[in-house]
Amino acid sequence: MAQGTSREIGPVVLLGPPGAGKGTQSKRIMEKYLVPQVSTGDLLRYNVAQGTELGMAAKAVMARGELVSDDLVCEMVRQRLSQPDCGRGYILDGFPRTAAQAGWLDALLDDKLFDNSRPTRAWPIVIRLDVDYNQLLLRITGRRSCPTCGRIYNVHFQLPSLDEVCDVDGQKLITRNDDRLEVIQPRLKAYQEQTAPVADYYQRTGRLIAVNGDQPVDEVTKQIFKILEDRQS
Ligand code: ADP
Ligand code: ADP
Repeated sequence: MAQGTSREIGPVVLLGPPGAGKGTQSKRIMEKYLVPQVSTGDLLRYNVAQGTELGMAAKAVMARGELVSDDLVCEMVRQRLSQPDCGRGYILDGFPRTAAQAGWLDALLDDKLFDNSRPTRAWPIVIRLDVDYNQLLLRITGRRSCPTCGRIYNVHFQLPSLDEVCDVDGQKLITRNDDRLEVIQPRLKAYQEQTAPVADYYQRTGRLIAVNGDQPVDEVTKQIFKILEDRQS
């Protein structure tokens, strides 16, 4: 893996339907720009696994493929973004997912914009990954991940070197509980009904950049890096 750069990129929002490649691309941005990936899905799954109060409230909702309430998710994000490692920027993966969350994020950043003691100064770059519906289904049903390091694989497109085992730490790969066909439809519906308007909102305010996510992983990464470099210069 190429060495990372510590240049500031500010907040980056990755939008896109389930399976679009947000997590995969977030990890590559994280490695290159040395900023944390803030994945609300991962944070929620961690809370479910730990049996926290938040996890207990979120578990059944996630299993049905619906969205966890804005209040719970925004508070979780607020806590995560206030940690020191987010000072130079961060990648929001899976947030905001509703108009209310987008409004909340703007208010949070607005606050930071006018408070010089706070480190995050820029509006987010919002990148939406567009992927064909049938490709999404293949990606979601084929997704596997490492329970230890979070690395993402796919039985159709991104096989590990050894069958069903993580290349990095040798752990047996797992399938997410909500990557089952019967849960995929409600998740895609939630995206269309609740998250697509968020992209429209960013588009209207001139902040959305759409990327064709229906290309090989490396090509998508190349285009995202180009957007981030252009923003810096
Ligand atoms: P998201 O976070 O948007 O739900 P992921 O990054 O988890 O998406 O990717 C979903 C699945 O698709 C994973 O199994 C991943 O390995 C695979 N994948 C991601 N990007 C691509 C791509 N450009 N081409 C083929 N498969 C991909
Ligand atoms: P994907 O990578 O397939 O898009 P995520 O891992 O981002 O899925 O999210 C998994 C589930 O976690 C969602 O279906 C939803 O129940 C919950 N979730 C994640 N992010 C949010 C959010 N910003 N608001 C509400 N619910 C969320």
